Amino acid sequence: MKRYLIGLTVLALVAFIAFRVHKPQDVPRLRIQAVPLRPLNHQHLDPLAEFPESFPLQVAVLWTHTKDGTESPLALVHALKEMGIPFFITRDCRQALRHRLVIIYPGVDSQTFDYTDAQRLIEFVRSGGTIFAQNVFWGGLKPIFGFKDYAPSRKRYNLTFTVAADPVTKYLNRPEEREVRLGSRSYSEIIWSNGYTPDSGAEVLARFDDNSAALLTKQLGEGRSYLLGLSLVDVVLRSQNNRDYEAERHYVNCFEPGADVWLLVLRAWYETYSHRWVRLATIPNGQRSAVLLSHDVDWGYSFAPSLDFARIEKVNQAASTFFIQTKYVNDANSKAFFFEPNLEILRQLKSGGSTIGSHSIIHSRGFAKFDLGSGDETYATYHPLGLGFDTASGATVFGEVRVSKELLDGQIPNQDTTFFRAGHLRVPRSLAEALERSGYQFDSSFTADDVLSNFPYALPRDPGFDEDSDLYEFPVTIEDEESPGFVRRIPQALEVLSANAENGAVSVILVHSNESHLKAAAEEQLLKQLPPDILKSDMLSFAKFWRARDRLQWSVTTTSNPNQVMLRVTSAESVSSLTFEFGQPVTISNHSSNTETATVSPNHRLVILPELKPGQTLSLPIRYLP
Ligand SMILES: [Zn+2]
Repeated sequence: MKRYLIGLTVLALVAFIAFRVHKPQDVPRLRIQAVPLRPLNHQHLDPLAEFPESFPLQVAVLWTHTKDGTESPLALVHALKEMGIPFFITRDCRQALRHRLVIIYPGVDSQTFDYTDAQRLIEFVRSGGTIFAQNVFWGGLKPIFGFKDYAPSRKRYNLTFTVAADPVTKYLNRPEEREVRLGSRSYSEIIWSNGYTPDSGAEVLARFDDNSAALLTKQLGEGRSYLLGLSLVDVVLRSQNNRDYEAERHYVNCFEPGADVWLLVLRAWYETYSHRWVRLATIPNGQRSAVLLSHDVDWGYSFAPSLDFARIEKVNQAASTFFIQTKYVNDANSKAFFFEPNLEILRQLKSGGSTIGSHSIIHSRGFAKFDLGSGDETYATYHPLGLGFDTASGATVFGEVRVSKELLDGQIPNQDTTFFRAGHLRVPRSLAEALERSGYQFDSSFTADDVLSNFPYALPRDPGFDEDSDLYEFPVTIEDEESPGFVRRIPQALEVLSANAENGAVSVILVHSNESHLKAAAEEQLLKQLPPDILKSDMLSFAKFWRARDRLQWSVTTTSNPNQVMLRVTSAESVSSLTFEFGQPVTISNHSSNTETATVSPNHRLVILPELKPGQTLSLPIRYLP
């Protein structure tokens, strides 16, 4: 008790001294741009209205009821949108079965279907339809999916794809993709899994660590079914929310596709069973992958060397996003450095073609535990102080994101700060809300390994399983600080970039902008070794592309000519070089007024669109080559 009291007294004394030395009136006067507080926009709550049926090539998502009630289809929506697979959502079994590919989601138990529906489903597969489903428990559908029994458990920690050669596993070529971890053994229970016992007609494509089947396929008549003993909520959305049971094998700097493998399975399934499939590619301009460059400027000595990074990037036809710590207070962690001449360096970066994001104000390791705050925080009244390693006073999540935006927007001409990265990548649960309400659009505060995802994704609102925020997340793939340091890890980084490129995924690189004499040279070495079909981009430009892509409305409809279809695309936002991939060689029909501007790749599989203006609709007649 006595020791406790002494500790408390010392702590109070330190806090008092810190406050006396760096009292609020020491805060320099800086010009700000006011940041209005926005209401939360609840537009993603009715999947049936958001994803209606509009063309035959769409995958039908049959959204089912089970005893557990209605589970949101958000995890599946993430997977399909990230892969650019066209789909609609329905509750109507007959409507779904009018399409060739059907996903039954989130599951089937004894209350989901009646025997009439079961007969319809069996007939659908027999006559050539394809179903992908997860967590089917009802005996009435055993003949379709090929299982005799199943066993639920929360103690299966690993999943391995078997050697069975099936087209749906064709993108899983690396060891990190052939075996994935479902959770850490430090937990006595992790996510639910359902291990199936296959019937003699089924083939096992993946097994759990207890040897039960995790992914089954079965041919029935002319058609085929796939059955997964996991929920995409657990293996995709839970991971993207970073609420997984530490399923990642590494934290950063490695290839960890634990959530991506399910997106790639769905992509391969769609491409295998659709007649003349069309997919919205993940990368613009017909390129294979993108490397997104970023720098964190979180030290007084990191400002001047930033210009060296910007210079080598320009020479190598690249650019980057600088995340700036707007440190205007002296505290236990560092002195203030958000003042001239550092601010002039930010203006130079911006006018030279770099983009600027926020890296908070006090950059606290305690950020993840900060209160949300009121939303009234503003530069005139917000006086946060780091007190030590992970403690702070007067700091809130709103304060860190909103006031840093006020300052960056006020100090840099034409700056509208929309990208955020948390100090030390510590993420509070309320981050999405604070960012959204302060006018941000993009975040990069997670690591790709930690969220097991190498594709950008819509960041869900807390608690994270029912509703997306308006933000998109771009998790960090490679950083510079882990031993032995970025300079000595270039070959390893290139290998991770290459693994992501094979999947059409992106790689985010974070290099702190100090020690430019070593690190800028290393970055240049990396840029020079990138294959030409990997895009080099700053984060903000790619993020704007990704958002427009994610919100794109598009359709492919038949015409009176059986070898010609009409691709119709409407973008709410300005976007360039959107790319559509076709399952068979195509060309753009001559009768199009857009012929001069849209282009076809040399292999006739990619159609690259010209710039679309906000609200513009483009109609492109596409002809299949013989
Ligand atoms: Zn930092």
